[in-house]
Amino acid sequence: MKYKDSRDYAVQLDDQDELKSFRECFYIPKDSENKPKIYFCGNSLGLQSTSTRLFVDEILDCWAEKAVEGHFSGAHPWLPYHEFLSEKTAKVVGALPEEVVTMNSLTVNLHLMMVSFYRPTATRHRILIESQAFPSDLYAVTSQIQYHGFKSDHTLIEVSPRAGEFNIRNQDLLSLIEREGDNIALILLPGVHYYTGQAFDMAEITRVAHNKGCIVGFDLAHAAGNLLLKLNDWQVDFAVWCSYKYLNAGPGAVAGCFVHERYRHRFDLPRFSGWWGHDKGSRFQMTGQPSVIPGAEGWQISNPPVLSMAPLLASLEQFDQAGMQALRRKSSQLTGFLEFLLQRCCADKITVITPAAEDERGAQLSLCIEGDQQQGKRVYDALALSGVICDWREPNVIRVAPVPLYNTFSEVFDFVKLLQSILQPQ
Ligand SMILES: *Cc1c(COP(=O)(O)O)cnc(C)c1O
Repeated sequence: MKYKDSRDYAVQLDDQDELKSFRECFYIPKDSENKPKIYFCGNSLGLQSTSTRLFVDEILDCWAEKAVEGHFSGAHPWLPYHEFLSEKTAKVVGALPEEVVTMNSLTVNLHLMMVSFYRPTATRHRILIESQAFPSDLYAVTSQIQYHGFKSDHTLIEVSPRAGEFNIRNQDLLSLIEREGDNIALILLPGVHYYTGQAFDMAEITRVAHNKGCIVGFDLAHAAGNLLLKLNDWQVDFAVWCSYKYLNAGPGAVAGCFVHERYRHRFDLPRFSGWWGHDKGSRFQMTGQPSVIPGAEGWQISNPPVLSMAPLLASLEQFDQAGMQALRRKSSQLTGFLEFLLQRCCADKITVITPAAEDERGAQLSLCIEGDQQQGKRVYDALALSGVICDWREPNVIRVAPVPLYNTFSEVFDFVKLLQSILQPQ
């Protein structure tokens, strides 16, 4: 797509935007003069939609009026509350409803998945992850390795970018899997890397890994609600994600988990169980006889945190109305426009470390600011003073993520012009 460096052009793109009406459904943070800030931080915490409160109030009202009977009555009874989320969640990640479940938080789900899917043996016990992995994932993986009695420095394999490069080449990753695959029990990679914004070729990675007999799991923290995912088609073994980033479900929101349908009846897999993973018909008979629910729901442990699920339900209705195809279409354009303007206006002062190819990134661009060690932070602080909310990642990256549900092309334009004026004071 060809873009133009003009505000009229940005306004014109906004006028033509098929998703433009969604912006009005969100609370946009404002400055002291009541002017909306430019919020490019939906990759870290998505904005609150105006319908969120209705869904939370529904639960609070029901609790006040009906107390324990709220488990069984009202528009969304609490007992099966997580079921109201399944179909729409499945659409967001390209899964069947029975392959997904909403529960716990991301890292907890990652542990639960590794209990079932990291089954190291003497000859095949290694875990492949990316270098510079998100710390929580690294801690989780390392502790699982130790839990199984292995040493993490021998067991972990990290795939890195080549010297002088920012991103991992897909071919390097695939070759490593070909080479070392016989020793690898589990491959755990991000859908989109939190720091660089690189999107991984999940379909191809899974295909090559399965040929070598490895299990493949993805951390979709930065991919769910961002990329077009097809977890079922891609044959991914498991995936986990949080809902407070692109999925707009609010701070600490309940997380998601995917288990491929081929494990639907694999009751032989070890798991950490609780009563909520057990057959709904006999759950309350309290016989103590285990009878696991087939599919992803069988990995639940506790009864659902409905107050945390309500904002997610509100949000998923919007994703359902907008549709992931349309969201991804606009997202590619928004980010493409951002990159075009950055290259045109700021190329000598910043480096975009996120891949340039559309299918190797999502909404986010990661910018390295040229100059001394403090320059990046100074630019970030100046942006913040001028009403831009984006985020700063040590040691030297500003992450900006215009998201298709509530950001506009005009905001992208205004952001780049502001950044340009900060970088090149007249
Ligand atoms: C945000 C994020 C998490 C968050 O983990 P929680 O368990 O929700 O605290 C984990 N992994 C990655 C890659 C993330 O980006």
